[in-house]
Amino acid sequence: MPDRDKALSIADPHQLFRTSLEQATDAVFILNTDNKVIFLNAAAEALYGASRTQVFGMNVEALVQKLPGADAQRAQPLPAVQILRPDGELRFGHVAESSTRLGDATLRTLLVKVASPPDASRDDHPLLSVIADEIDSAVLVVDADWHIVYANAGLTRMLGYKPWELRGKTPREILAGEFTDPGVMQRLHAQRSSPGGERHEALVYARNGSALWVSATVRHLVSATGDRHHAIVILSDITQQRAYEMLQRKVLQAMVMEQPLPAVMELICEEVQRVAPSVIASVLRVDADGRLHPLAAPGLPPGYAAALDGLTIGPSVGSCGTAAWLGEPVMVSDIANDPLWVDFRDLALPLGLAACWSYPIKASDGRVLATLAFYCRTVRQPDAFHQQLAEVCASLCKLAFEREEAAERILQLDHYDSLTGLPNRSLLQMQAGTLLLAARSAGTTLSVLFVDLDRFKHINDSLGHVGGDKLLREVAQRLSAHAGDSALVARLSGDEFALVLPDSDRAQTIAAGKRILAALRQPLRIDHASIAPSASIGISMFPADGDALDYLLHCAEMAMYDAKAAGRNLFRFFSIEMNWAAQERLALESALRDALLAEELHLNFQPQVFLRDGRLYGLEVLVRWHHPHFGMVSPDRFVPLAEDSGLIGALDRWVLEQSCAQLAAWRREGLSVPTISVNISPASFRDPGLPAQVAETLARHGLPAQALVLEMTEGLLMEDDASLAATVAAIHAQGVRLSMDDFGTGYSSLGYLRQLPVHQLKLDKSFVIDLESDAAARELASAVIRIGDSLKLAVIAEGVENEAQRRFLLSQGCHMGQGYLFSRPLDALAVAKWIAAPRAVEPHPAEHGEMHSRR
Ligand code: C2E
Ligand code: CA
Ligand code: CA
Repeated sequence: MPDRDKALSIADPHQLFRTSLEQATDAVFILNTDNKVIFLNAAAEALYGASRTQVFGMNVEALVQKLPGADAQRAQPLPAVQILRPDGELRFGHVAESSTRLGDATLRTLLVKVASPPDASRDDHPLLSVIADEIDSAVLVVDADWHIVYANAGLTRMLGYKPWELRGKTPREILAGEFTDPGVMQRLHAQRSSPGGERHEALVYARNGSALWVSATVRHLVSATGDRHHAIVILSDITQQRAYEMLQRKVLQAMVMEQPLPAVMELICEEVQRVAPSVIASVLRVDADGRLHPLAAPGLPPGYAAALDGLTIGPSVGSCGTAAWLGEPVMVSDIANDPLWVDFRDLALPLGLAACWSYPIKASDGRVLATLAFYCRTVRQPDAFHQQLAEVCASLCKLAFEREEAAERILQLDHYDSLTGLPNRSLLQMQAGTLLLAARSAGTTLSVLFVDLDRFKHINDSLGHVGGDKLLREVAQRLSAHAGDSALVARLSGDEFALVLPDSDRAQTIAAGKRILAALRQPLRIDHASIAPSASIGISMFPADGDALDYLLHCAEMAMYDAKAAGRNLFRFFSIEMNWAAQERLALESALRDALLAEELHLNFQPQVFLRDGRLYGLEVLVRWHHPHFGMVSPDRFVPLAEDSGLIGALDRWVLEQSCAQLAAWRREGLSVPTISVNISPASFRDPGLPAQVAETLARHGLPAQALVLEMTEGLLMEDDASLAATVAAIHAQGVRLSMDDFGTGYSSLGYLRQLPVHQLKLDKSFVIDLESDAAARELASAVIRIGDSLKLAVIAEGVENEAQRRFLLSQGCHMGQGYLFSRPLDALAVAKWIAAPRAVEPHPAEHGEMHSRR
């Protein structure tokens, strides 16, 4: 007998009924006359998501709700219901109902057939709806009457409604709330039958009542058969974007309105708290000493912020002190248990502060300017929104801080020199005005010093601007350190500084002048060059020279020019004649400009001879200026003027051209002049065009390169002068020889000298002049000669005026010289005569019988 038959045969009818109910795939609820559930099967339990005992006695209305008219147009004959489960989920089904009389009671039986959610569009296009659910935006499909027929999962995520909760409702019914602009809703509605696509921004409300900003577009859709007209509404959540925009707009507005920094910080904190109500924001400034100072904490009790004031940042100083120390965000999610908060938790916990996330606000150069903290009343980590908000706020704070720093800098710039930090002329003016008033009423004297660095232009040219700037900063520092406590020190411009010494008489001023010159003279290294800076100082006195700062400065400047003319590295008091000298200087400068054009300049030539026999070795070219009004002007006077006024290039070119022309003429006449030496100023040596110019000039006059020697001044040589080294090398490569002029007076190291392709040294005449009288000069002279020897350079002694000098030089191994002993500088005609004239030279003691005339 088959098992099934056997089971049937043994079944008791009740048991059979119960078992079949229990195993039915449809849910069965049996209700008493009060509509309370008295029985449900396993399928009903599964559908409702609760155990039987929980459901017994519940009113069925609470379990199963009829959906109004939902399936009227569809083939399904049974009424549709939804089951609201205790876990919040909805299930759908179709219900069949029957009544059974049991004694005098009538029991109702509900048979619920589980169905998928009632959604026409979903059923029509399952693939499309799967895709639509993946979209972040909320998508609604509405029918011709503006009733929702479809909503994607994005809408559920955004607004909290389940698709079926929306059926039959209009978008306005679900979206609009207290602050929604009705106009926008109308415009959306109006677009349902137009091709649309226009974007609208609207404030809408989610199912739980929270407001959010959305951007909405509506597009008209017609079904393929052309009979069904729908519209699709797409909503994107732009709340965060709007929040940031609003935050930024407000904060930037406040900055534009020049609101003070604490007010801007306060605004940022308030905006943060508005946008993210769960956090309390605060901003602490970090000062230069690494101490914290509250700037804004509108949501924190005042006592709390005050307690943080002056705390020094460090590796475990709460969230902010640590964030400032590390320069990185510090997220403390539980103040009570975080080691960083050990010292501060007693401060925070009683106020209900449970978490604190701190973000450093850094300047563009990396300095931590401040910290932005978000406090929370619950133990938690920031979410993505908080992080974004913090980033936006930190960048706004940075902007505000940098703007404030810039404003301070502008204020500073108005009064202070940015390179040296010294007061500028305008601040000096103000401060000196006060000192002058005080001096007048107290009847005291005051001095004004005008300090101008010597040869700064050369130093700047050879070391570059960075090197020049370093020197200026160092000079500023030395002046401040040595001017005296009550003195004002200011930078006027370039390498010009001014000092005002209150209550200082002539004697005290002289002492100050000496002190300052001595301080400035100390050598310093800039990059690889060693420099001994010096300055020329002009001094004027109140009240003797004037009573207004401007005039006193003018007088001091005149005196400074006098100090320069007198040899630099010294100070001069103003005298009334100096005004004339200054005017003359200006006149001379413009006259020199004219002289170059009018050819008022001419050349002299000084023979350079072999000391032993007076034979001609070469001629040094020396420029002369005879001015119709000023008379003979010494090159010692106008060459520095030409260097200062930028005329030196033209002057040196002119001399080079004339010298070559003259040498070529002599050679054509059969006059034997082995070489000419032309003085070239350091400024011209730095001109990269010089080598080509030299080559071109020689070629034009048909002269070999060996005929030309260029003299460069050693005193102005600087190590690591790349542009100079390049031109010197190029000139050497042509075969033109180089001579180091004034050797022994400059600072250049021998190591550097060895690197330069120099052919000869000129022993400065200051060594030669003192040879007879000064043992030290003799020592030095022989040392220089030995240096020349060891470097295998020819040495020419300058300024040889007498026989004793000639003999001494010869005895030390110096073989060549020039000076009045042999000849003064001569004009071209006189040179020819000098060469032609027989003359006697005393024989050197060591070289008997060599006395002869040179031809
Ligand atoms: P320097 O190159 O050292 O020229 C030597 C200077 O010593 C010349 O002065 C010359 O007249 C003078 N002198 C010659 N022999 C004696 C002597 O026995 N005793 C004394 N006490 N002095 C003597 P000068 O002509 O006044 O030139 C002065 C400086 O002007 C030159 O010094 C040179 O640096 C510069 N200089 C002259 N001509 C030119 C030129 O054409 N171009 C450039 N850039 N500089 C020039
Ligand atoms: Ca020379
Ligand atoms: Ca010289």
